[in-house]
Amino acid sequence: MGEGPNTNRPFLARERHGTLSRCKESNVVLMVQDAQAGAVIDAALSSGALCCPSCKGRLRRWGFARGRLVRRRALPALRLRPPRVRCGSCGVTHVLLSASCLPRRLDEVATIGAALLAHVRGEGHRPIAVRLELPPDTVRGWLRRARSNHASLRLLGTLLAISMDASLPPLQPAGSPLGDALATAAAAAKRFFGGSRTPWEAIALMTHGRLLAPAGP
Ligand SMILES: [Zn+2]
Repeated sequence: MGEGPNTNRPFLARERHGTLSRCKESNVVLMVQDAQAGAVIDAALSSGALCCPSCKGRLRRWGFARGRLVRRRALPALRLRPPRVRCGSCGVTHVLLSASCLPRRLDEVATIGAALLAHVRGEGHRPIAVRLELPPDTVRGWLRRARSNHASLRLLGTLLAISMDASLPPLQPAGSPLGDALATAAAAAKRFFGGSRTPWEAIALMTHGRLLAPAGP
């Protein structure tokens, strides 16, 4: 299955335990490699490979979340209907979102990643927006949020890399805090996921979909 680790504290969502109908609803989104592949999800649920990020309880299918569009650069927009799961222990429901996109973002993670890479190479948000055919404010928002999350991203990448190989040498400086953070995260994601995912999907999984999430308390 290879779902991303969902216990990385720097990127773990604040949980909102409001009551919705008969069950609790969480804003935690579980990233999975292919959230549309029902058989893959069922196997992960039955094996316990995908568990509740709140209490580690067993999850089971619980219908679907509202459909959403994912805008892609080279392909037509994709309409997804993310599955929802519910924890048998704490009753919280979670949404399974494909690693190709991020929660609350219209564009696929590869597009967002392309903008971040261009930025750490010195490009401003306006030329990036022109090249990607996106509103400047959208790109500016991505860059601001990524910059504000750089310390958490770098810490997460460092911890993950050390957990796999404590003797890894430090990376060469990338020229900016965000550049260093992305390089660290990319190196860790590559080691963790191998070549099974694209680099940005691997980072989406690694960060539990919170690459551009607001900072928690
Ligand atoms: Zn739970």
